Amino acid sequence: MFKVYNTLSNNIEEFKEIEKGKVKMYTCGPTVYNFAHIGNLRTYVFEDVLKKVLEYDGYEVTHVMNITDVGHLQSDEDTGEDKMALGAKRENKSVLEVARFYEIRFMQDLEKLNIKAPSIKARATEHIEDMIKLIKILEEKGYTYIANGNVYFSIDKYKDYYKLANLNMQELQAGSRIEVDKFKKNPFDFALWFVNSKYDKHILQWESPFGTGFPGWHIECSAMSLKYLGENIDIHCGGVDHIPVHHTNEIAQSESAIGHKWVNYWVHGEMLTGDNGKMSKSNGEFLTLDKLIQDGFSPLDYRYYVLQSKYRKQLVFSYERLMETKKSLDSLRKKVANIINNISGNEKINENHISMYKTEFRKCIDDDLNIANAFTVLFDVLKDDELNNLEKRTLIKDFDTVFSLNLVEGKENKLDDEKVKFIEELLKERATARVNKNWAKSDEIRDKLLKENVEIIDTKDGTTWKVRQ
Ligand code: AMP
Ligand code: ZN
Repeated sequence: MFKVYNTLSNNIEEFKEIEKGKVKMYTCGPTVYNFAHIGNLRTYVFEDVLKKVLEYDGYEVTHVMNITDVGHLQSDEDTGEDKMALGAKRENKSVLEVARFYEIRFMQDLEKLNIKAPSIKARATEHIEDMIKLIKILEEKGYTYIANGNVYFSIDKYKDYYKLANLNMQELQAGSRIEVDKFKKNPFDFALWFVNSKYDKHILQWESPFGTGFPGWHIECSAMSLKYLGENIDIHCGGVDHIPVHHTNEIAQSESAIGHKWVNYWVHGEMLTGDNGKMSKSNGEFLTLDKLIQDGFSPLDYRYYVLQSKYRKQLVFSYERLMETKKSLDSLRKKVANIINNISGNEKINENHISMYKTEFRKCIDDDLNIANAFTVLFDVLKDDELNNLEKRTLIKDFDTVFSLNLVEGKENKLDDEKVKFIEELLKERATARVNKNWAKSDEIRDKLLKENVEIIDTKDGTTWKVRQ
């Protein structure tokens, strides 16, 4: 039984899906005005692990992720400059050129990190109609007001506004979230549609019943998730920084529109921090995956780095620790290669050996993604003298469907699935040649395999093979 920490209840809960065997999952995607930094990528790795654990448990996961290419101002609270316009100004390109460029780079980062692409990737600019429809519903139900031409969501109309973040309003009002927009009735109200924003010449504008303008950021996630996943979603993810504003506002909009609970499990990943606190793009300099690659690390070194710590704990990034991680991943790869390169054709799989370890592994990953313990199970497998190399390889490959570190496909390994298939086919051909007493053909196949470092051993019980070291 999979258990996961739900921000909504502040508890670890048993996961129960809405529709048997299926999981509907929504994750907030990037604002594509710049490269993703490695902090963002930590969150996407955590979400990938969550999805793969659910798949390991046999669920069919439908995963939707948005691409924000309009509407996100510098602060999540409708203040500051427009992020997309900033990107365009910086690079002297059009907003859409910038958006498409960074979207491609983002998808490449995901691929390099072995992060599985979402089932549906939805761009904000291609869903303006859906957002307008949703704002219209909110307007009809009385949750909105117009001030200075903009459409705002009135949080006083939605009684559960603080349920996700457990916000203490006074504390917050005394804190940083004091709204400078004098048109808002409540400082926590937020814009659904900007008409008279500070940017009279906003580049991307659409006609709407509320006037020509552009949508706020939060409405995009509500509109697209409702469109693709329906009114009841199993899991919604993101980083913890999105709890107090973005996700709180998403819930307010969606639940006000549909009139009932929207998401069952809110699962949040903690921040990656640098020397100067939370890593963020507004701090100026930020680390990207490409920078790590330039510095001699592989993307999977960084994935391993992220997997080393619990997703609910802050993780400090340092090059020293990344170097240690790289070394331990190299050493793990060598151990795995040694196992794989020593598999021989007469090894058989004993299902009892395998299933005991799989059960152990599953217990760890199902325990609120205890990946550190799952690695301990992997290391136990490597050490276990009762297991033969073929059994070890089978288990490593199985666990790597979650870790996704290419442990079995590593370039150090002389044997991969393709090669095993190749050997087995040649051995079949050789067996036929020998039945037909075609000794020349049989020898030719033996030599061909020798060239591939595979030695054939004929015994009275049949033919086996092993990879020569
Ligand atoms: P953004 O593009 O800022 O909306 O962020 C994209 C994703 O990265 C969101 O899920 C954020 O919660 C997450 N995120 C932002 N900064 C960090 C960080 N320093 N560490 C981990 N995740 C982050
Ligand atoms: Zn979102």
